[in-house]
Amino acid sequence: MHTTALVLFSGGQDSTTCLAQALSKYQRVETIAFDYRQRHHVELEARLKVLSEIRQQFPQWGDKLGQDHLLDLAVLGEVSDTSLTRDTAFKMEQSGLPNTFVPGRNLLFLTLAAAVAYRRDLQVMVTGVCETDFSGYPDCRDDTMKAMQLALSLGMDKRFLIETPLMWIDKAATWALAHELGEKSGVANGGEALVNLIIEHTHTCYLGDREHRHPWGYGCGTCPACELRARGYERFKA
Ligand code: ZN
Repeated sequence: MHTTALVLFSGGQDSTTCLAQALSKYQRVETIAFDYRQRHHVELEARLKVLSEIRQQFPQWGDKLGQDHLLDLAVLGEVSDTSLTRDTAFKMEQSGLPNTFVPGRNLLFLTLAAAVAYRRDLQVMVTGVCETDFSGYPDCRDDTMKAMQLALSLGMDKRFLIETPLMWIDKAATWALAHELGEKSGVANGGEALVNLIIEHTHTCYLGDREHRHPWGYGCGTCPACELRARGYERFKA
């Protein structure tokens, strides 16, 4: 029986939904994020706000929420040349992958997360990767996650479980899942409260735009991450 988890928590919609699910399932939950000099650096501030809002608005979850870990991964910005770490436009590469793909990013994240989970004695690692929406990202695929789970468990001689609650659902279903988890949180109107918390405080926009407010939250409204979030929200509300 698993009782403890480490959530890869970037401060976006997906990882906030994963965090809510972990808090509804496990007894002790810690969070981890990485500073790789991403252009949308604002997400690192957003995540602290999300954590404090969860503590305030969902006290039963707040009781289970433990340490937050932020690791410096500047080296990832040094070795990769992508539109997430450089000031270049979003486009598709000849490889068929968007130039927002940071090679090895999730592999490094999981490896470092496992090292922290090992030290903190946390059994499950939860990540918001998804094959349904970002089908272009090979490090978000289910096979990659299963291979990482095996490699990390063998390499650290400790059984890790990598949990991916969003793997097979789309963005509309992710909004619906957040609503459902909020409803079961023990807080009155918790579903609406969690959806509103996600709209108001999570950050998804690749450009780090916190100026323009839309029904689905803040962002430029035109980058691939904003488009995906907006479309999902529209279908969720429909
Ligand atoms: Zn955007």
